[in-house]
Order: sequence, then structure tokens, then C-alpha cells
Amino acid sequence: MKKTSTQVVPSRQAPGGEPLLVVDDLHVEFVTRQGVVKAVNGVGCSLNPGETLAVLGESGSGKSVTAQAIMGILDSPPARVTRGEIRFRGTNLLGLSEEARAQVRGRRIAMIFQDALSALNPVFTVGDQIGEMFRVHRGASRRDATKKAIELMDRVRIPAARQRVHDYPHQFSGGMRQRIMIAMSIALDPEVLIADEPTTALDVTVQAQIMELLGELRRESDMGLILITHDLGVVADVADKIAVMYGGRIVENALVHDIYRRPAHPYAKGLLDSIPRVDQKGQELYAIKGMPPNLLDMPTGCAFHPRCPYRQDNCVVDVPPLYEIGPTRASACHYWREVLDGSHG
Ligand code: SF4
Repeated sequence: MKKTSTQVVPSRQAPGGEPLLVVDDLHVEFVTRQGVVKAVNGVGCSLNPGETLAVLGESGSGKSVTAQAIMGILDSPPARVTRGEIRFRGTNLLGLSEEARAQVRGRRIAMIFQDALSALNPVFTVGDQIGEMFRVHRGASRRDATKKAIELMDRVRIPAARQRVHDYPHQFSGGMRQRIMIAMSIALDPEVLIADEPTTALDVTVQAQIMELLGELRRESDMGLILITHDLGVVADVADKIAVMYGGRIVENALVHDIYRRPAHPYAKGLLDSIPRVDQKGQELYAIKGMPPNLLDMPTGCAFHPRCPYRQDNCVVDVPPLYEIGPTRASACHYWREVLDGSHG
């Protein structure tokens, strides 16, 4: 049996200046009737206080599985972490007992899920649901918990919070429900907040407002923010850096302005080219050809080769390593130089 520890994660920065959160060579697989699905294959990334990391990819790229592994909410079985570490303030979360992990989950690392309507309980008022965080975790009285709920609703800019604290989830719009979810997730002042597709079900204007709110909350409290998304367009103004995932691997790591200016991986370039632009009105929208890979039957060599316009013969055989192309940048493409030269630059 795997050895676990009941040690408590320290509240201060790890010695040696290690970032707040480090994901190191993470491997996650799912055992299914059809075979073993290798959902995450050697993912590595880091996050500092006050920083926003966007994790970008199509469905099945491994981005949500990585987030669930960080939260410790993977269903096991069928999921199993086969290798790697997730270090939070220098402590490997994967080595902790379930009890010690529960002390971190929701309190110090919190998560916002994409579907606010199904995540909220329809038979309790929003005040009860936000206040429950304080009653359960801080032993607050019902009256104090309601007061805290109003403060939090104000903080996430829900108008007339005092009047609306006794309303039910169905009485709020989709954008306001997502704000309620955000209020619940930040109730205990987490050091890391993971937002998994927080704006998917919302219209474009509300998406921008929710992103702006997350950016403001991050700045106010200096928490690290991980934004999981399939949409490069929504993270441009909020993220500091981006990890682009494909087929369970990170294929490009970069600062946000670098990737927008000159992507170094053909998949990242394809995602950028797919964003609608106001100066290209009337032109056909670019779409990356083909389908995401079948994780049960991954392509040989570079997993992106069946869809890649830059493909050469060796791409079908040789798996590209993550080439370091600068202090803050890496690309898993043998031909990253050609991609950089041929892109928006
Ligand atoms: Fe395309 Fe080859 Fe680069 Fe893969 S390694 S992204 S197939 S050029």
C-alpha cells in the first residue's frame, strides 16, 4: 500500500524559494474495460502567489484531469496517479493521508466548477450555501454566517446582496450564479484557486465580466489562479502564462504575451488562428483540421502529427521532447524554429 503522511502543509513559502504550487512530471491513467487510458503524461508547471496560469486545450487534452489531481478529487479507481509530485508550499500532496489532504482541499486550494446550476443546491438559499462554508469550517453561528455571505456577495459584485441573500439559485442569472460559486470558493481565502472552464455556459459579455472579477480577486488577495479553458480568447487579459496541452502532455509553455505574438508550437498557432478577429470580418474562420487523438490509441511519434501542417517524416516516429527555447518558454515540436519564424511575428 502507498505510504501516506499526516503532516500538515506549512503556511509559509517553502524554503529555497520554490513556487507556491509545483506540478512535477505528473502521470495519471484510467483503467477502463477498453484498456488503460493515459490521460496525463509527464505534465509539469508551477504557480506563484498572485500569478495566473491558463491551462489550455481541447476536451480530452488532460487539463481537467490535471486540475482534479491537484484538488485530490480524482475518482480512484478508475483513475490512478502513476508517477510525479504535486508540491504545495514544498509538501508533496500525493504523499499525504486523505485526512491531511482534506485540510488543504477547499480551504487552501479551492475550485470553481463550470456548471454553476448543477453545483448549487436548488432547495437552499444562496446565503445558506455560502454561509455553510463558515458554519462547517469556522464554527460560525447562522447569523454570523449570513453576515459573511452578504460580505462575500458584495465582494463578487452581486447587486443588492443584503436583499438577495435569501433568494434561491434559480432566481439568479447564469452569470450571477457563477459569481455565487466564486463567492463560495473564495470564502475561506484559498491560496490557490482553480477555475475549470468558469465561463463556458455564459455569453461573451458575461464571460469578460467573470474573467475581470477573477483577475481582481487574485490581485486583492495575492492568490495563485489556475484557469482551465479551451478558449485562448478569454484568457488573454487575465493570464500571466499559458500551458497548452495536447494528448495529455504540455506542448507549449510560455508567457501570455509571447504566445500571442509568436506561438512556438503548431497546435498553439492553430488555436490562435481560430480566434475570430474583428479586423477579418467576412473571412472564413480557421479551424484545426482533424480530431483530438484517441487516448486509447495514440498516434506514433508526435501526437499532433495527423493534424499538423508543419509535419515532416521524422514526426511520425520521434516523440518530441519539451525543447527549452528560453528561460520562460518551451515547445514540444521538433520544428519550433520554423513555427516561430512563420507566425504572426
Ligand atoms: Fe508538427 Fe512535427 Fe512539430 Fe509535431 S513535431 S507539432 S508533427 S512539426
